[in-house]
Amino acid sequence: MTATDILIVGAGPVGAALALLLKDSGRTVRLLEARAGAATDGRTLALSHGSRLILESCDAWPDATATTPITHIHVSHKGAFGRSVLSADECEVPALGYVIAYSTLQAIMDDRLAAAGIEVSRGAKVDDIAVGNANIRTGYRLGETPGSVEARLLVLADGGANLNRVPGLTLTERDYGQTALVGQVELDQPHQGMAWERFTPDGPAALLPKGSAREGRYSLVWTTAPEAVAQLLALEPSAFLERLTRHFGERAGRFISVGKRASFPLRLRVATPRVAERIAVVGAAAQTLHPVAGQGFNMGLRDAADLARLVIGAGEDVGAATVLAAFAAARAADTRLGVRFTDSLVDLFSTDHPVLTVGRGLGLAALDVLPPLRRALARRMVYGR
Ligand SMILES: Cc1cc2nc3c(=O)[nH]c(=O)nc-3n(C[C@H](O)[C@H](O)[C@H](O)COP(=O)(O)OP(=O)(O)OC[C@H]3O[C@@H](n4cnc5c(N)ncnc54)[C@H](O)[C@@H]3O)c2cc1C
Repeated sequence: MTATDILIVGAGPVGAALALLLKDSGRTVRLLEARAGAATDGRTLALSHGSRLILESCDAWPDATATTPITHIHVSHKGAFGRSVLSADECEVPALGYVIAYSTLQAIMDDRLAAAGIEVSRGAKVDDIAVGNANIRTGYRLGETPGSVEARLLVLADGGANLNRVPGLTLTERDYGQTALVGQVELDQPHQGMAWERFTPDGPAALLPKGSAREGRYSLVWTTAPEAVAQLLALEPSAFLERLTRHFGERAGRFISVGKRASFPLRLRVATPRVAERIAVVGAAAQTLHPVAGQGFNMGLRDAADLARLVIGAGEDVGAATVLAAFAAARAADTRLGVRFTDSLVDLFSTDHPVLTVGRGLGLAALDVLPPLRRALARRMVYGR
C-alpha cells in the first residue's frame, strides 16, 4: 500500500490536465491509468478558446504545429433554406476553436506529466474503492499484480468505468440511437480555417479543418443510425466518398480521399451528484455528451480547473466534505446548461417534422442577420459559459 494526497484514476486528457494544474500545489498527486501504451483513439477534438487559456495556465498548450485554428464556422441544415457563418473576428478572439487529434493531445499531456515528475502507473486498472475515516483506499491490478493506494481525495477521471463503485450516485442516461463515424478526408479546396456543421434529420455531420489553411484536409464526424454507420464502414473508399457527397453536398469542395474510419456509439450520461465521501467525479465520467456542439472535453477541462482551484485553496484535508460540496456547487450551472444546450441541439435538428424544419430555417436565417444572437452562440462555443 502506498499513500498520496490526491489519487486521480484515469490519465486521459481530463485526468492528466488536472494533475498538471495541481503540479505546484504542494500536494502529492498520483495517477493510475488502465492503458499501458500510447493512445490510438481515432477521434478529433475541437478545443474552445477557454480551454486554450486553461491549458496554457499549466504549460500544456501544444505548439502551433499540433493544432489548427477555426476562424469561421458554417452552419446549415439539409432541406432547409437558412444558413449562418460565425466568425472569430466578430467575437474578438484569435480563433473560435482549435482542432487537435485526441491521440496527439494525449501524447503531449503524457510528455508534460513526465517532465513535471508526476507519478503515473500505466497499465493499472482500478477495480476496487473503499472509503475509510480519514482516507480512501483504491485497489487496482497491474497485469496480474494487485496493488492499492491510500489518498485523502480520489478523483474519478476514468470515463465512467468505476461509477458503479461510488455509493449514492444517480445516472441520467439517454441513448440517442446514433453512432459517430470519424475519419480523415481530403477535399479539392483549401479549408481557410472554416469548420462546417451540417444538420440532417439522421444526425449532424461536421468537417473540422486540419493542417495549414491552404490544405483541404478535414476531420469528419458523421453521426447517423448505428446500422447505417456499420454499412458506411464497410464501403470501399470511392463508394464511401460518393455517399458522403450525397449527404454533405459540395459546399466545402469536392471530396477526393478518405483515410481509416472508426465509430463511437453516442449517448448522454450524467452522474448526480458528482461527489461522494472523499470522491470527486470529473470529465466524461461526470458527463458524457453528444459531440454535436464539441462541448465534452471543454466541459471536462472546466471541471478540472474548478477542482484544482478549490484543492489549492483547501485546508489540510483536501478530501474534506466542504471542499467537495464547493466543487459540486461550482460545477452545477455550467454542467446543467451545457447538457441542455447539447441535448436540445440534437432534438431540434434530428427530426424532419415540417414545422420544425421551417422553424430551423428561420432560426438559421435569424442567426445570419442578427449579430447579437450570433455572438451569443459563438461565445458558448468559444468560452463554454
Ligand atoms: C466522436 C467524438 C467526438 C468528440 N468531439 C469532441 C470535441 O470536438 N470537443 C470536445 O470538447 N469533446 C469532444 N468529444 C468528447 C471528448 O472525447 C471527451 O469529453 C473526453 O475524451 C473526456 O476526457 P476524459 O479524460 O474525461 O475521459 P476519456 O477520454 O474517456 O479518458 C478516460 C481515461 O481513463 C482510463 N481508464 C478507464 N478505466 C480505467 C480504470 N478502471 N482504471 C484506470 N484507468 C481507467 C482510460 O484508459 C482513459 O485513458 C468527442 C467525443 C466523441 C466520441
